[in-house]
Order: sequence, then structure tokens, then C-alpha cells
Amino acid sequence: MRQIECDVLRLWEHAFEPDPSNADKFYLNVAYPYPSGAMHVGHGRTYIAPDVIARFWRMRGRTVLYPMAFHVTGAPVIGISKRIARGDQKAISLYRDLYKVPPEVLAAFTNPLAIVRHFSDEYQRVMSACGISIDWRRRFTTVDPQYSRFIEWQWKHLGEEGHVVKGAHPVRYCPQCDNPVGDHDLLEGDKAEILRFTLVMFHWNDVLIPTATLRPETIYGVTNLWINPDVTYVKARVDGALWIISRAAAQKISLQDHTVEICNEIPGTSLIDQVVSHPLCGEIPILPARFVDPDMASGIVMSVPAHAPFDYIALRDLQADGRYTAISPVPLITVPGYGTLPAKDAVERAGITDQDDPRMDTLTQEVYSAEFGSGRLYEQYGGEPVKLARDTVSAYMTEQFGSIPLYEFDTRSVVCRCGGQVLVKILHDQWFLQYSDPAWKSQVSNLLEQMSLVPPEVRTEFERTIDWLKDWACTRKVGLGTRLPWDPAWLIEPLSDSTVYMAYYTIAHHLKSFSPDLLTPEVFDYVFLGRESPALPEREKLDVMRKEFLFWYPYDFRFSAKDLISNHLTFQLFHHVAIFPKPLLPKGMVVFGMGLLNGAKMSSSKGNVFLLEDAINEFGADTVRMFLVGSAEPWQDFDWRNELVASAKRQIERFMITVEESSAATGTPDELDRWLGSRLQGHITRMTEALERFQTRQALQEAFFGIESDLKWYRRRLPEGSAGSSYLAEFCSAWVRLLAPIIPFSSEYLWKKLGRPGMVSFSDWPASDQAAVDKRLELAEDLLFRTVEDIESIVKIIQMSPSTITIYTSPAWKYRVFQAVARAVDKGAVIKDIMKDEEMRKRGREVTDAVKQCTTLIHRLPPDVVSQLLEEIPDETATFRKAEKFLEKEFGVPVVVRDAGESVHAKASLALPFKPALVIE
Ligand SMILES: [Zn+2]
Repeated sequence: MRQIECDVLRLWEHAFEPDPSNADKFYLNVAYPYPSGAMHVGHGRTYIAPDVIARFWRMRGRTVLYPMAFHVTGAPVIGISKRIARGDQKAISLYRDLYKVPPEVLAAFTNPLAIVRHFSDEYQRVMSACGISIDWRRRFTTVDPQYSRFIEWQWKHLGEEGHVVKGAHPVRYCPQCDNPVGDHDLLEGDKAEILRFTLVMFHWNDVLIPTATLRPETIYGVTNLWINPDVTYVKARVDGALWIISRAAAQKISLQDHTVEICNEIPGTSLIDQVVSHPLCGEIPILPARFVDPDMASGIVMSVPAHAPFDYIALRDLQADGRYTAISPVPLITVPGYGTLPAKDAVERAGITDQDDPRMDTLTQEVYSAEFGSGRLYEQYGGEPVKLARDTVSAYMTEQFGSIPLYEFDTRSVVCRCGGQVLVKILHDQWFLQYSDPAWKSQVSNLLEQMSLVPPEVRTEFERTIDWLKDWACTRKVGLGTRLPWDPAWLIEPLSDSTVYMAYYTIAHHLKSFSPDLLTPEVFDYVFLGRESPALPEREKLDVMRKEFLFWYPYDFRFSAKDLISNHLTFQLFHHVAIFPKPLLPKGMVVFGMGLLNGAKMSSSKGNVFLLEDAINEFGADTVRMFLVGSAEPWQDFDWRNELVASAKRQIERFMITVEESSAATGTPDELDRWLGSRLQGHITRMTEALERFQTRQALQEAFFGIESDLKWYRRRLPEGSAGSSYLAEFCSAWVRLLAPIIPFSSEYLWKKLGRPGMVSFSDWPASDQAAVDKRLELAEDLLFRTVEDIESIVKIIQMSPSTITIYTSPAWKYRVFQAVARAVDKGAVIKDIMKDEEMRKRGREVTDAVKQCTTLIHRLPPDVVSQLLEEIPDETATFRKAEKFLEKEFGVPVVVRDAGESVHAKASLALPFKPALVIE
């Protein structure tokens, strides 16, 4: 196996380097990888599934471009190299043990560029070993100087069009890296969203105790505060006033435009039973509660037991011990479907007795949504719907009672790649891509409407993302990348410098010979937008690039995993509409499902991955490919299990042996070969359609299992001693070509072995020949196949060796019944209609029985068989007589064929169309 792969790889060297041609083109691309670690099998599918599509269209005669580059912008590798430099065991073990980096290479990883250099070479090597047909001439990295010139050009346009604005915004921020962090920079919490809480300021002597809430309107129902007795809080001077908050909160607040100076520590216990006050709820006590999380917001919370299930249960539990019995919940919202105390109703209805009940979160959500959706404040609190009161009360408290906003994540634990906790910081002078701009959004929506999306269900997710996208902090202070042209103190962040690079691929190989200094915005304006300007350098080269860009662009399909819909895949649409004219806008996207390993999500940081290279070494590249694209459609999740992969390996081995054996056959083609050829046309049609729709799994079912089972039947039907006919060579040539996109190594090898000219990778895709289709022949063979199966199962059941087999074929009148039943619109009226026929009436009960049996049979038969039986009645007797020799060989006894209509045998009356009665004696 390995030898075959090596030989074939040599054959393919430089084979997939397309230049513009006279043929139609097909340009597909995949989100480029960030080469900071080894590829696992999950990455494998991301690049292999598009390769199947690339190979398919190449064989269909298109000039196909499948390029690849490496994304190295940003801070992640800097974080990794820092961790390695400081001897972080977790990082070292990941690289040494899981990614198998040799010690001398690992030692150099204290330089971040060494990491990306090492892994981009690795990626190229492993991608090639998988047979991915990439044009490597176009490879680049996002820190190449030529690429930086391209990004500067792109951003000049974005800036001039007013898409980049400056402002203060809350962003995810790593204090350890002193840098904002994007999705790609996170080890944990990449789905976390920033929420805006209101800090409600309670007074305690001369000190303020702030509690954060998303429901400021509930201030009227606060009965107490909760404080964690196990936590040590701090007294801090915040913007000049004294506050009590958790230590974590002090750090958070200091990142959000406040000056914070910690004065001293205060144990939680010393605050218990103290009385605080707020003008909107009066004086209330502080109660102990261990569920209060010091890492959440201010570390102290207000309690609204009438409307918050957690508060209700916590208070109830304290009161059950006879404490704080004077406190009763204070309701303030009416909501249909609940009584005066919604929290109490919800808890009691669900039968929850314990604060730790896992259903508490859902229950809380339920009450909150009901109150938000249809709740209304009591008249004495203003009478507004909760929806409106939320903002009214928040504004009122901000104006009158010193409330301020606090930004916090909606999920716990957001961790940077450097290992540090990520917090929310208000950044000033930060640059933002203004994705909130309604005009820009509507241009993107219009584009999306024109695009092909696979699978179609992702369309709503894209629409939702476009609608929901807010301004995006697009610059960073630290990392690798390109500086913002008009404000070089800032670097463009990784997601923002990888949005239109699909255009760059089209000319990447030409740019390598350009000095970066020559690559002014005017040069790119000419190449991409056709804009003339005086004194363009190297005009001839630019013309070649302009021509090449226009040949490939717009791209046909972009492939990426579904978790990139909410950022990258949508961002790239925004940038394309901002820069390129309509005829050059993207045409389609294919969105992938995720990879599982033995049922669990693959994750490098958790060590739950199987390296792609290990997989290739263990199973062979074709096996890996066949499993990855054949076990699920690209948009479905797939689950890598070694035992299933091993069975794919055996299937390929079987295929190779079968092809080598069959194509040597020399017999004279007969009716059986015509049958095989007829079936093949159907497989070709269906596989072609499947690949046109990106259904790699369906394609494999047709081209591998479908054809294999036909061939198996064909070989079984051959007379003793025959190895088949010379037609098999032609048949195998088609079979090998059909499988070439999926298992290209084996196919390339067999192609040579069959003595075919050139490479299978560039041979013609089999065309289905309608003249070779013989439906009657297929139907007859199907009847025979089904009957053989029936005989086998009867023989198995009766457990005796038969001495003769008699096949009673259906009498002609039952075919008339069958057709009447199949055609009938009103199934209830069928019998009446049939009985209009004099001859049928004479048969009486026999006919009503046949109607029932045919109804059942029609349900069981494939619809295409039923519709064929409506068109013509096959000569079943002739079919079986012709196969008598075969049947006798199969079962080793004489086989008799009779028309059931001419027999008086009791069982003969059971014969039905396409289901003869069988008597085995
Ligand atoms: Zn960090």
C-alpha cells in the first residue's frame, strides 16, 4: 500500500498547478489553517471533502483551482512560544507527546515564527500525503511582505468607504497578554458573549455595596442581599468612593474605565446580618449564601425571591431552619400563567426541593422569559411592561442613584491561549469594522440571496448572523500581522486580515517575483479592479495577473466548518461586497459538520485527537479519505472509530483485487454483460448527481457499494468456469474512474495497471450512455435475484436439503389486479372497479384476496419497480426458464418453472406478480 502511495505521489508532483485555459473553470477554496499544531483527522476531512469535489470537476473537464496558504497572524503562537519558553509542562507535553515534535525542533519554539514554519511544512507534507490536489505554487503566509501590501490595499478601501470607525467598546481582553483576544485566541469560552449588567448601589454606612443585575426593574422586590461567608471581600476606593466587592470584581472594574485602589480585606462573615439600603427598596439585611460566586460580576447579589427561583429556594431553606422568618417575598410583576409569586409557583410545579437541582437553570430561564415576554410591573411601580421597564428603571437608577454599567461574560471561564483568564475591557481609540451599519448589512443580505449554500438549512444561520453582527474590534497592539495603514500603532487582527485572500491566491505565485515596495495600492487597484493609473510598474506582469484574476474570480465555492458561520464566513461576505464589483462576488459556500473521536468532540487542548499522519500510516491515505467522506455527508458530524476505518481498508483491498481479476477476463459478452452495463449507467448518473450536490457519502454508496454488489451478482451468475467477458475491462475502467475522486491513489495505480493512457486524475469522467440502458433486462434480473433470496430463506427455515424446487409464476389476471391496485387513487373503490369486469367477477373471492395481497406487495416493492410493472408485464416464465441452469447450479437440485394459472397445486394460488410461489420439496 505504502509503495503505491509513494509512486503515485511522484506522478502527481506539479500535476495540479492550473493556469488559465480555454475550458470552464472551477475555483474552490477552504479556510486556511493556523499552523500551530499537528493536523488531526478532523482537519483531514475539512481538506479532503473539497478535494473529492475538486477531482470530480477536474475529470468533468473543468480547469480546477484548489489553493492553500497559512494563517499565522495574531498572538496565539506568541502565547504558545511564551508558554514553552517559561517551561509550561502542559504546553510542552502537548507539543512533545501529542504532536510528536522532535526535541531539537521544540527547543526552537521559543521563537513564534519557528512554530508556524515547522507546522506549515508539516501541513503541506501531510496534505500531500492525503492526495489533496493543491496548487502549492500559490502557497503563502499572512506575514509575507507581499501579503501585507495586499492587506494595506484592502484596508485603504475599507477606510475610504467609511467601514472602519474609532470608538470605545467592551472587548474580550487578556490581562496577561495585555491584548484583546479573538475567537482563535481562546482555549475556552469561545462562545462567550459580553452582557451589560447594571450595578445597583446599596449603601452601608459610608460605603457602597454594588450588586450587578440584568433585571434592574426587580429592585422594587429586593428583600435582602446575598453574600458568600467563605469569601474574603475587599474594600476599595473606586473613582473616589468606597466600595465593597470581591477581589476579582476589583480587577474587572479597573479594566472598565474606573480607577480602583484596594484599601483592605473584609471577610464575608463580618457582613452577614448588616443592614443596607437603597431608595427604591428601603432597608434590607445581608444574608449568607454559599452559591454566590465571587468571580461573577461584583461577587455580591441582590435577592428577589418573588421572581427569582434561586432566591426563593435559598430563602426558604434558611427559613426552614427557623432563621429570617420575618422576610417575605415582595412581588412586583404580574404575569399570565403564574400566581402572585411566580418563582414559588415554578419551583413547586417542578417539585424542586433542593438548590442544587440541575433543573434550576432552565426553571430560572422559564420564569425570566415569561416575565420579559408578557409581564407587567404593578401600578405602584409604574405599570410598564417588563420589556420597557427594564430600560426605564436602569436609566432612572443611573441618573438618580449612582448606577453604572458593568460588562461581564454570559459564561464562566473564558481562557486565553496563554492560559490567562480573559476579562472584559473597555478599549478606547480602538478601531472597529462597522458591521452594525444597516446599509452594509443589506448589501450582504442581497449577496447571500444570490449564493448557493450547502446544506440549504444554513441560510437562516447566515441571515441571523448578518442581522446580529455588531461592530468588530479589528485591531490589536500585540501579535504578528499587518499594521493599519493610517494608524500604524495598531495591527490588523487575524479574522480581519483573512477575508478576501481568495482573490490573492489567483495571483500569489506571480507576486513572489515582485519586490514588496512596488506593490502599491494602485497596483492592486489595477489587478483586481481594472483601475488605470499612471506609471504602473512591470505592466506586462500586471496584465498577466489581471487576466488570471479575471479567469478564476469570482470563486465558485468556499468550504468551512459550521462554527465559522458566526464570524469568518460572514465577515468575508462583508469585505467582498465592500471591495469587489458585483460580477466578482462569491458564488457559493459549503458548511461542514464537526468531527468526533469515539463519540466525543475532538479537541487538541483536551488531547482527544487522532493525528492525520498517524491515521495515514496505520490505514493508508485512501482508507482515511474513504472513511472521512463516506461515513457522513460533509455537513453532518462524523465519528472516527478505528474499527470502522479498518473495515474501509478491507473494502479497498477487495476493490483492487476484484478490478485486477475482472479486467483480465476474455469471454464473449452476452446478455448478462448488457445487464451489468445497463446498471452501471444508473450508478454513473446517480453518483454524478450526488457529487454535483456535494453528497460524498451518497456518491460512495453508488460508486462503491452499488457497483460492487452488481458485480458480485454478475460473477455469481456466470456459468461454471467462466471469469466473465472482455466487457469487464471497459466496466472496470469506468469503475476506477468513478472512484478516483475518493480513493485516488488506488485508482491511479489501477489505471496504470489496466494499461490506460495518462493519469486517471485527468481522464474523462464516465458519461452515462442511455443507449446502454435496458430496463426490461434489469427488471428480469431483479426478479431472479429476489426469487433466489426467497428460496434461500425458505431453505434456511425448513432446514432440510430439498430434492426439487418448483417456481409458480403469477397468472396474467393477477397482473391486471396488481396494476389496478397500483394505479388506483381511491384504494377503497378498487375492488368495485375490478369487479366491473365479467371475467374477474367469476373468480369471486380469489380476486378480493389478490387485491389485499397486491396492496401489501406494492408497499414492499421499490417504487421504481412498481412503476415499471405498470408499463409492461414481464414474461416471468421465460425469465426463470432461461435461468434454470443457474438456479440448478445455485441449489444443486432440479428447478421446475410453471405458470400458476395452469396448476392445481394448493401453493400455486399464492403466486403474485413479481413474487412467484415457491414449492420446495
Ligand atoms: Zn493571554
